[in-house]
Amino acid sequence: MEFTFVMIKPDGVQRGLIGEVIGRFEKKGLVLRGLKVINVERSFAETHYADLSAKRFFNDLVDYIISGPVVAMVWEGRGVIATARNLIGATNPAESAPGTIRGDYAVHISRNVIHGSDTVENARKEIAMWFPEGTITWNSCIDPWIYE
Ligand code: UDP
Ligand code: MG
Repeated sequence: MEFTFVMIKPDGVQRGLIGEVIGRFEKKGLVLRGLKVINVERSFAETHYADLSAKRFFNDLVDYIISGPVVAMVWEGRGVIATARNLIGATNPAESAPGTIRGDYAVHISRNVIHGSDTVENARKEIAMWFPEGTITWNSCIDPWIYE
């Protein structure tokens, strides 16, 4: 099984999309391993997006992420990193397909509702950073109805 880190950004929280987002992941057949609503500090947001620190939009991105509470989650599933990215949709909502979260609920690239890890390595790093307390293990009883 694979794990990924997913964050509902402050616009998603303020717009009342928490249930909608979680519902989509849950109905897909993915398993929720960690969940919390938190405010993050500037330095934490800067570390999370360190790979983008040279981009001209970096400071605005950090301001956006610390502008209100976010929902941090860990989801589990086979190939969940790619699956989550597919559910989330393209970075720019102008190009995200209808049916994806960004395609259905966002308009502007700087207010795109949700984050999902893009690689196994980044998922591992982000989960360790956002959930230093660890996550619990539990067996979903619907597994045989999700996987052969
Ligand atoms: N972003 C932005 N302007 C841009 C590109 C990205 O504001 O021109 C923001 C946007 O919120 C995006 C985040 O920076 O989700 C991280 O960018 P990345 O390329 O990693 O996209 P993602 O992995 O979130 O699809
Ligand atoms: Mg990214």
